[in-house]
Amino acid sequence: MNTPKRPELLVVGSVAIDWIITPKAVREESVGGSATYFAMAASFFAPTRLVGVVGEDFPAATVDDLKGAGVDLEGLEVVAGKTFRWKGRYHENMNDRTTLETHLNVFEQFEPKLPARYRGSEYLFLANIQPALQRQVFEQLSEPRLVGMDTMNLWINTTRDDLLAVLRKVDVLMVNDEEARQLSGQENLVKAARAILKLGPRNLVIKRGEYGALLFDRDGDIFVAPALPLEEVVDPTGAGDSFAGGFMGYLAGQGVEPSGSTLRTAMICGSVMASFCVEGFSYDRLRDLEIDDVQERFDQFARLTDFSRASLT
Ligand code: AMP
Repeated sequence: MNTPKRPELLVVGSVAIDWIITPKAVREESVGGSATYFAMAASFFAPTRLVGVVGEDFPAATVDDLKGAGVDLEGLEVVAGKTFRWKGRYHENMNDRTTLETHLNVFEQFEPKLPARYRGSEYLFLANIQPALQRQVFEQLSEPRLVGMDTMNLWINTTRDDLLAVLRKVDVLMVNDEEARQLSGQENLVKAARAILKLGPRNLVIKRGEYGALLFDRDGDIFVAPALPLEEVVDPTGAGDSFAGGFMGYLAGQGVEPSGSTLRTAMICGSVMASFCVEGFSYDRLRDLEIDDVQERFDQFARLTDFSRASLT
């Protein structure tokens, strides 16, 4: 008897070498990038394929780590030149950060090319890249069942029309609170969400760092997932992308459509993976995880938000 094929999840985004400065530590040559974090988190839940570009300086050990996690790297191009580099400094609160340097390097000429066998991918995540490139990915896919995407302030400010065109096609937009305010022109997040949903996406996730994440749908439903209160955050870089990886990975791994209950579970899976990500530099903590750790933390989230023992009377 044939076992049914599991749906494949495709991510297109940046693969980077970061230089991270936190109030307590500095790590140069910390492998990052939106697609890297996403894939490391998503591969716990679903077969994951990555499309991106790196230079000849990209560490072979990371390629091994991604392959070891089961990530399909046929779509990762290696070209002459240097990998995309980003340098950031976290403020004392570890929630806010300042970008100190961005060097596009090989990313400047990047045009996503999907290998033939990726074109039937059913689940797609467009991680943070230029909206025009996100649109090129759509053009190469036959018929995705579910599309999620991320963006950033740079694209909201500089390529708004391209961004709005892509937004009309997505099922789930994931942005942080500042980006939601910028995109909508509304300071209040509930009003911002209502305005953004009118732009096209069927669902909206607003990530709020240590304050957790909010899910809004077009019917006016709101769901809140907390972030795990942690005694020590080592490096918040990639938390948003790991959240997206857990969220999309869960939906793809189950092969389900977004609905009230599947989206709520996806929100918790996203929070679980983000909580692991920030416990170490780069993707170190995600790499060393076992599936039992993921289950245990999922249960911890359930206890964290359980108010069935609370009573009004
Ligand atoms: P997050 O902390 O989830 O927002 O993701 C941080 C990652 O985004 C870092 O590893 C950076 O390498 C990557 N990054 C920073 N700036 C950009 C950019 N302009 N385009 C794509 N990726 C970026």
